[in-house]
Amino acid sequence: MSEVMAQPSVLILLGPPGAGKGTQARMLEEDFGLVQLSTGDLLRAAVAAGTEAGRKAKAVMEAGQLVSDDIVLAILKDRMAQPDTAKGVILDGFPRTAVQAAALDALLAEAGRAVTAAISLEVDDEAMVGRVAGRYTCAACGEGYHDQFKLPAKAGVCDKCGGTAMKRRADDTAETVRERLKAYHAQTAPLITYYDAKGLLQRIDAMGPIATIRAGLAGIVQGVAA
Ligand code: AMP
Repeated sequence: MSEVMAQPSVLILLGPPGAGKGTQARMLEEDFGLVQLSTGDLLRAAVAAGTEAGRKAKAVMEAGQLVSDDIVLAILKDRMAQPDTAKGVILDGFPRTAVQAAALDALLAEAGRAVTAAISLEVDDEAMVGRVAGRYTCAACGEGYHDQFKLPAKAGVCDKCGGTAMKRRADDTAETVRERLKAYHAQTAPLITYYDAKGLLQRIDAMGPIATIRAGLAGIVQGVAA
């Protein structure tokens, strides 16, 4: 699974926090040479760098609510303007509102591009709090782990790069995850209907093993890129 697709794709991963968007986006990056574009990662980088956007976003993110469309769209446009995105992108955590979805359509249209597919990772909400509250990543390479579901072979050492510093997100507490789930259902879940109406929606059961979901997604991506 290493072929680069003929047409640069714009794939959207939809799903609540904990559905596995980040994990699967990283795998699609490996499998298809696409570029993962996570607005959550970009916002966390802005917070860490102390930019004006980051200062505005920090408290909103810690409360589990959505950052304003203006801030997110400015960050997304900057990132989409970088040349590597011409290889095709997987949007992870964007769009999250109807305004963002319309702005994405307009931005792509300016470049003669369009959304290739929106893939909804279908999960049980109830399981998401436990999934998110136990997760952590390698600070060096970003590989994801989980207290229950995916421990590194040697405790505290990253399987992928050997790094020993692990980090947890400030907003991955049970209380904040519940707020994030509320925001997802109120503002983001309606996008499933939006993309379905355009004939762009694909659904995948995302409750099973990571490798099974990876294989299912690869099939979808090959199908839409064909
Ligand atoms: P994520 O890493 O995708 O779970 O996003 C973490 C947090 O960043 C979210 O709970 C929001 O506060 C903020 N965020 C990320 N992407 C967006 C977006 N597209 N629109 C609004 N807020 C976002």
